[in-house]
Amino acid sequence: MIKLHDLIFKPFVSSQQLDEIIGRMASEIAADLKDEVPVFIGILNGSFMLVSDFVKKYPHPCEVTFIKLASYEGLKSTEDIQRLIGLTQDLTGRTVVILEDIIDTGSTLHEVHRIFKNENVKQLKIATLFFKPEAYNKDFKLHYVGLEIPDKFIVGYGLDYNGLGRDLPEVYQLKTTQYMTNLVLFGPPGAGKGTQAEFLKDKYNLVHISTGDVFRFNIKNETALGMLAKSYMDRGELVPDQLTIDMLNAEVEKNQDAKGFIFDGFPRTNEQAKALDALMESKDSQINAMIALEVDDEVLVKRLLDRGKTSGRADDADENIIRNRITEYYTKTAVLKDFYSEQNKYFGVDGVGSIEEITQRLSKVINELK
Ligand code: AMP
Repeated sequence: MIKLHDLIFKPFVSSQQLDEIIGRMASEIAADLKDEVPVFIGILNGSFMLVSDFVKKYPHPCEVTFIKLASYEGLKSTEDIQRLIGLTQDLTGRTVVILEDIIDTGSTLHEVHRIFKNENVKQLKIATLFFKPEAYNKDFKLHYVGLEIPDKFIVGYGLDYNGLGRDLPEVYQLKTTQYMTNLVLFGPPGAGKGTQAEFLKDKYNLVHISTGDVFRFNIKNETALGMLAKSYMDRGELVPDQLTIDMLNAEVEKNQDAKGFIFDGFPRTNEQAKALDALMESKDSQINAMIALEVDDEVLVKRLLDRGKTSGRADDADENIIRNRITEYYTKTAVLKDFYSEQNKYFGVDGVGSIEEITQRLSKVINELK
């Protein structure tokens, strides 16, 4: 991850990948142009690294020159293109290949075509290292495309963000979710995760996802997912990973604009923890902390039996099922303490005390993360 001015960027295309892509473009163009001696024209500033590497890989004689156009201001490609250095040689009858670092809206290309309208070149080919199909709104043909990329801002390898980043030998992409806070609230059944999550979600403006609650909602509404989960839950066993992971992914997807999540009751296995990391990664984000409420087993059993008198939850009513859930926690779930400890993300908090006291202990951990 790198920071340029106020923004964070993540690695996107490595120098090795760039090398391969540019090698491929050079061979493709050479194969098409055969005996021609082309004039490669780089569009400054962005293309300087590309042109330098490209012509080193081009297997036949060629000429190289540059024109200088300016289009980017900050993060947006502006429609207003300025020509700062134009053509300085006669290109009549020549084969010209434009080398662009990136084509997004296509405004630069519009200006390029305007420049070449009266030049009487033999042929004009357009080659670009990166192309953003979703942003492109012109009809000009692109003859050679190195890599199609999503419509996200990139820097490095000649491309800049307000002046910085051109010197980087690889390409980085803007992180779309810059500062999400994602917490895993951890602890055995009855530790008070649900109660605390209710307070924390308001205090920190986070979305609370309790997999247990989602399963219960599905059971109540007799959905296919609910039917599948019910038999496991009734016995106090874990619902199979894939089912749980798919459901969790869907819940996260429903909350595209979230500032962060409190995961309550998830992950419960290593598989789930890995799936959660992958999901966070796909959102350009990460789990910031696992906060575990530590409560003695006998206190848990008592709390759950008490809760069972009013919650209506079958898995809270029977001491054997309660003990089975606690055992499931220690055999399958407690291993996750190591998973997050290894990443220095594990924080244990004493879960015995008044609700307010525990909220304060949790808040202290969260505030120190920020
Ligand atoms: P909870 O409300 O978190 O105590 O969860 C109640 C029950 O839902 C558990 O005993 C499991 O059967 C099921 N469940 C909830 N979350 C998960 C999960 N992450 N993985 C597997 N099963 C789960």
